[in-house]
Amino acid sequence: MIESKLVSLLGEKNVLKDEPMKNHTTFKIGGKADFVVFPEIEEQIIAVLNLLKSENIPATVLGNGSNILVGDGGIDGVVIIIGKNMKNAEINGTTVKAQCGILLSRIANLAYENSLTGLEFASGIPGSLGGALYMNAGAYGEELCTVVKDVTFIDKDNNIKTIEAKNCDFGYRRSVFMENGAVITSCTLSLKEGNKEDIKAKTDDLKERRVSKQPLDKPSAGSTFKRPEGYFAGTLIEQSGLKGFTIGGAQVSEKHAGFVINTGNATAKDVLSLIEHIQKTVYEKFGVTLCPEVKMIGKF
Ligand SMILES: Cc1cc2nc3c(=O)[nH]c(=O)nc-3n(C[C@H](O)[C@H](O)[C@H](O)COP(=O)(O)OP(=O)(O)OC[C@H]3O[C@@H](n4cnc5c(N)ncnc54)[C@H](O)[C@@H]3O)c2cc1C
Repeated sequence: MIESKLVSLLGEKNVLKDEPMKNHTTFKIGGKADFVVFPEIEEQIIAVLNLLKSENIPATVLGNGSNILVGDGGIDGVVIIIGKNMKNAEINGTTVKAQCGILLSRIANLAYENSLTGLEFASGIPGSLGGALYMNAGAYGEELCTVVKDVTFIDKDNNIKTIEAKNCDFGYRRSVFMENGAVITSCTLSLKEGNKEDIKAKTDDLKERRVSKQPLDKPSAGSTFKRPEGYFAGTLIEQSGLKGFTIGGAQVSEKHAGFVINTGNATAKDVLSLIEHIQKTVYEKFGVTLCPEVKMIGKF
């Protein structure tokens, strides 16, 4: 039985069966996964991956679930959530070595406490470090890749490897990890010495901009679409008259048209139908194709 094997590898508290994924996503949407597991160390991830490979069971890796839409039919196999445990970080001078389950907000705060600058932009992004590396998360003109020195991951043959940032093929909301099927486990960041008051002032300013412009009180997965070259997705959606447009429980936020929000009981189908409607309307009006930034996972 796969359940008893997972429990023997991870302990009972780190294995959930038939678990609704809406409990593990900021969208608060998603059907059940056969299993959700929370590894505490790299070796446990490798052991679980080896087990799943030998039993031919699919594995899905998540960080903090803040950039995903999980289908109403749930996820077959085992979801490995890195963002619950694996949160250690060590600071040595201007270098930060961190495990990938740590939240960006936490690591940005650690940097501030140690008078290190370079992560202020990341303090309001609700993802784990692993998810942020995968996505090359960014905000206000800055991106994570600019402070990454190297990344350690488990490759598709379940070996641990470390590569330098220059080999991560970072681009706008992309990285090599989208293609190589790796599980990112830790990384080294290279920050700069800064002034604590300046770091706080910048962080507070960016937080205020977020709070005043984004619908942070409603479940979402952040910006629904990538920024199309030369445009802003939110502006195109607003100028298409779609602010507040609703399908089922999914709505184009009244506060920021770049966000699709869950008004309470949205299904993944509602969100997907709304995304398709937005894409069609914006294309007809402006001839611009909007590509989702949000990752769709599981059975729709
Ligand atoms: C209110 C709000 C505001 C946001 N603002 C921003 C913003 O300003 N800028 C921005 O860039 N994003 C933003 N986001 C989106 C999101 O927070 C980022 O994309 C974040 O980097 C995702 O991290 P995560 O750990 O939640 O990843 P998840 O959502 O769990 O996963 C995202 C993808 O990464 C993969 N992944 C996650 N962890 C790993 C790992 N350890 N190894 C391999 N693959 C992994 C998953 O398979 C999935 O494909 C926002 C989201 C919300 C809800």
